[in-house]
Amino acid sequence: SASVALFTADLRIHDNPVLRAALDAADEVVPLFVIDEGVRAAGFDAPNRRAFLADCLADLDAALRERGGRLVLRTGDVAEETCAVAAECGARQVHVAGDVSGYAQRREERLQRLLASGGRELCVHDAVVTALPPGEVTPQGRDHFAVFTPYFRRWAAKRLRPVLRAPRRVRVPEGPRSAALPSRPDVTGVSPGLAAGGEKEGRARFDAWRKSGMKAYAENHDDLAGDATSRLSPHLHFGTVSAVELVHRASETGGEGPDAFVRQLAWRDFHHQVLAARPRASQEDYRPRGDRWRHDGEEIAAWREGRTGYPLVDAAMRQLLHEGWMHNRARLLAASFLTKTLYTDWRVGARHFLDLLVDGDVANNQLNWQWVAGTGNDTRPNRVLNPLTQAKRFDPHGDYVRRWVPELAGVEGSAVHRPWKLPARERAGLDYPEPLVDLSDGAERFLRARDR
Ligand code: FAD
Repeated sequence: SASVALFTADLRIHDNPVLRAALDAADEVVPLFVIDEGVRAAGFDAPNRRAFLADCLADLDAALRERGGRLVLRTGDVAEETCAVAAECGARQVHVAGDVSGYAQRREERLQRLLASGGRELCVHDAVVTALPPGEVTPQGRDHFAVFTPYFRRWAAKRLRPVLRAPRRVRVPEGPRSAALPSRPDVTGVSPGLAAGGEKEGRARFDAWRKSGMKAYAENHDDLAGDATSRLSPHLHFGTVSAVELVHRASETGGEGPDAFVRQLAWRDFHHQVLAARPRASQEDYRPRGDRWRHDGEEIAAWREGRTGYPLVDAAMRQLLHEGWMHNRARLLAASFLTKTLYTDWRVGARHFLDLLVDGDVANNQLNWQWVAGTGNDTRPNRVLNPLTQAKRFDPHGDYVRRWVPELAGVEGSAVHRPWKLPARERAGLDYPEPLVDLSDGAERFLRARDR
């Protein structure tokens, strides 16, 4: 007998309950990934993620081959292709990870229906994508937590499932044909500094960071130039590392740094449980406040291209263009600048981020944008981040700006944050724009609109 393990956001062989359950259910397993046309149709098919995905699939195939198996790849409609594969190998069960976006939920429903019509069963597994399944902890009388602190208290008190070992052998039936795996160099429009994907890479990154960076994470995580965070977000997005395993391994180490890291992983679960309960929050305000957003095409273009004239904002946006990734502190500032200082709809910014971020994720991206914009569950919705204050605290020597804004690379020290204050001759020699707006005008405009 055979079963199908449908890989989605869990592109790994270690600690994978989907693969384990499929192996336990039958003698042979078809490890399947479908490049879904629905993802492209939904405008979610960004080059950086496609390139990273190519790495992940190649690595997954290699890991399966080392164990006597292979990856079966199909292209088309995920529900139809999965049913076709199940029929080809006579599988009674298809195993898949539970996930939260509207897209993932529709995928699950359709797949369940199509499989049932052929007498087959869909088995959905929890705690594969997140550490704790959405809905596992809820406040009394409500289906989700809207505020992080009480959520985290309950989250931290829960025992996670144990970590699962990678299988030793995977037997795959001869039958199902596979399309050729995509290759990273074939993807165009990729950011030049994009990180490499794949489970091997993700595990190596965590191992290295656990030794070198995790201990000091609590003090260093906001240091923009220090770049001291784990950079595991793309691996968590594609599931090449497991959130459950990261929590276990960080907790075993213990201490302030690991605790702070685990808390960030809980933020990821937190946003997933919000989206699971409110799938429409990916596009609609979580707490509608009747904002009459401005829409100035030139300002938006300047923000996207990193030429607002505020060096820290521009450095953030250039890092995004170059790497397809941005430091969390930079994301907060860039998003606050767009939604508050420029008073532009958060959806405009979220879309741009999704077009570029290699970790671009409906739950984390859309809900963090709403959090910053004040339409979501932030407990301080009227806070406006000031790029100059943020610069003083998180890039005091200006190194992050010099790294990402080459026009300013010759300006020494913290003066790089205020090029408009440089002596006229020095200023004239810089090919760098004047500030797009006055910061206090922007903040006042936002607060006035909120008072209406
Ligand atoms: P670390 O600091 O090492 O943290 C470890 C992990 O915890 C991260 O990999 C991530 O999975 C999780 N995490 C940390 N902070 C958050 C957070 N605020 N919300 C949810 N999870 C968190 N993260 C994404 O994964 N995808 C996105 O599309 C995304 N968009 C964002 C948009 C905005 C406007 C903001 C403010 C934040 C966004 N984040 C997003 C959250 C956060 O910025 C990134 O997860 C983090 O910068 C990734 O770097 P890291 O892996 O080095 O994080």
